[in-house]
Amino acid sequence: MKLFRGSTVCSLAMVGFCIFAAAQCLSALKEQKQGLRRFEFTEPYMGTMFKIVFYASDESSALEASRVAFNRIAGLDHIMSDYQPSSELMRLSELAGGPPTRISDDLYGVMSAAQEIAQKSDGAFDITIGPVVRLWRRARRQHELPESARLAQALELVGHEKLRLDAKARTAQLLKPGMLLDLGGIAKGYAADETLRVLKGYGIDRALVAAGGDIAVGEPPPDMEGNGWTIAVASLDSPAQRPKRYVALNNAGISTSGDLEQHVEINGTRYSHIVDPKSGRAITGRVSVTVIAPDDTTADALATAVCVLGLERGLKLIQSIPETRALICQAKNSELQCSDWHFPATRDQSHDSPIVRMEQVSQRFPGL
Ligand code: ADP
Ligand code: MG
Repeated sequence: MKLFRGSTVCSLAMVGFCIFAAAQCLSALKEQKQGLRRFEFTEPYMGTMFKIVFYASDESSALEASRVAFNRIAGLDHIMSDYQPSSELMRLSELAGGPPTRISDDLYGVMSAAQEIAQKSDGAFDITIGPVVRLWRRARRQHELPESARLAQALELVGHEKLRLDAKARTAQLLKPGMLLDLGGIAKGYAADETLRVLKGYGIDRALVAAGGDIAVGEPPPDMEGNGWTIAVASLDSPAQRPKRYVALNNAGISTSGDLEQHVEINGTRYSHIVDPKSGRAITGRVSVTVIAPDDTTADALATAVCVLGLERGLKLIQSIPETRALICQAKNSELQCSDWHFPATRDQSHDSPIVRMEQVSQRFPGL
């Protein structure tokens, strides 16, 4: 993973504009010289939009690569969805309480990554959270808190130690009947990583895959050689305004989790779609966590875990894992507290193209 600091910031708007225009011309020339063109494709999967941006030599190979990439995402969606009863994940959950079951390499891969983060985060990230998440989803629909007796019952089925994986036999076993797996906190990151891998197989390594707030980046665009893809990070203090933070990244994953988009307000309290596996309570209070890691599977899971752990314990977790960086913002007593761990400095975006934003801001600034 490589990070890059911001380059010169122009002090005058006009100067900024001129540099921007010049950079655009130069980059077009460079692209032509390398025989590369920029392509962008978007399709919906996993309850969000997947955007693929890459550089390729011609349109027909770009179209073919994008088709295969989207097919791969669709395949992963069909394995990992907890909305499709026929998904491999749901069929595995149905066998809860039974003997170990052989599972696909993809399901094994994502679940073993999830178990690793579960252990490192002391269970703050836990894919056995399904029964509790179900209750909170209903709460969101009905605007009514889950009954505590039902929450307590559901919590009995939660715990990453109740999920056994066998690396040699490629099996999974759910120890208690009624257990339900939920990959919502990690599947998009895994899919983004896998999409980059598919594109690489087509000789396309200057690529970016954005699944809402989960983004995986490969080699930088040709005009950003020695630099990276510019990514805007949503800000918790002013989500309705243009983002203030832009980072340049290559060969890495960056994920944002929080309650900016998905939350419900019941009796004046804001409940997030992220749940604390220890208490069974949905996270309350405003929080936004952006994690950078060598891959997006890790960044996605860690961002969710840090939302559960909060600022101090979350920072400790990030510090304990090599090559990860984080920006954690939390509202406390109506004040916003932000801490970061080696988070890259904001770079000047005035002459960068393209800009890719996290989901939260993209919906508000379609023209950015
Ligand atoms: P988003 O889906 O908005 O990108 P996250 O990556 O943080 O956000 O994932 C949130 C989803 O993860 C929830 O909708 C739920 O399905 C699942 N989830 C909720 N709490 C946890 C948790 N503590 N550990 C693992 N997964 C969780
Ligand atoms: Mg996540």
